[in-house]
Amino acid sequence: TLDADWAERWVRRAAEAVEAAKDELTELDRQIGDGDHGENMHRGFQAVVARLDAAAADTGSDTAAPGGSAREVGDVLKTVATTLMSTVGGASGPLYGTAFLRASKVSGRPLLDPSSIVALLEAALEGITTRGKATVGEKTMVDAWSAAVDAAERTARDGGDEVAVLRAAAEAADKAAFGTIPLLATKGRASYLGERSRGHEDPGARSTALLLGAAMAAAL
Ligand code: ADP
Ligand code: MG
Ligand code: MG
Repeated sequence: TLDADWAERWVRRAAEAVEAAKDELTELDRQIGDGDHGENMHRGFQAVVARLDAAAADTGSDTAAPGGSAREVGDVLKTVATTLMSTVGGASGPLYGTAFLRASKVSGRPLLDPSSIVALLEAALEGITTRGKATVGEKTMVDAWSAAVDAAERTARDGGDEVAVLRAAAEAADKAAFGTIPLLATKGRASYLGERSRGHEDPGARSTALLLGAAMAAAL
């Protein structure tokens, strides 16, 4: 079952994955942006972990009875949203912040089934497109999120369980991130390069793949 503890494991694993990939994300952004995506994401997720640590110390959650917490998935995701918005900056801060905020609003219940995971991912994508106005194929994080949503919907429709849906989403995002390499960027900083944006992977699509990979790993 995917509950608030899963959400917290997700976010902590995401922070670890971002830390491990910090230089790679920065290098990708150096090629078609301003070279700060690794730093931005790392700063944001370190702040998120600090907030979670502080909350755990406050409630003494180490000693809380299993399942005894009133905390919900949406509470964890909302903490992520507000922290990313106030610490990440750049284009990706408000985009990821809005994604997690929208996701938090459809994740109020303590447990998630396959269709609520699909709803979570759909809400996140909707937040990003509302905020950034990018569509699929513009070489942004939207490419990874859209592929993830499509794969999650398909897998849930075919009767896949929570883990199968998250795995499908993570794999699709990973593939779509690589798929941004030949694309022409028409949104964000990379669009300033015009044709020279081709041949490089979009950093935000790569970080999206990391985040969704962490969501899957936290569910195993
Ligand atoms: P900045 O470009 O302000 O330095 P980051 O480097 O942290 O911010 O993030 C860059 C990433 O943000 C890009 O790789 C792209 O995936 C994403 N991005 C930029 N603009 C948009 C947009 N309008 N819609 C969706 N994603 C976007
Ligand atoms: Mg940048
Ligand atoms: Mg920047």
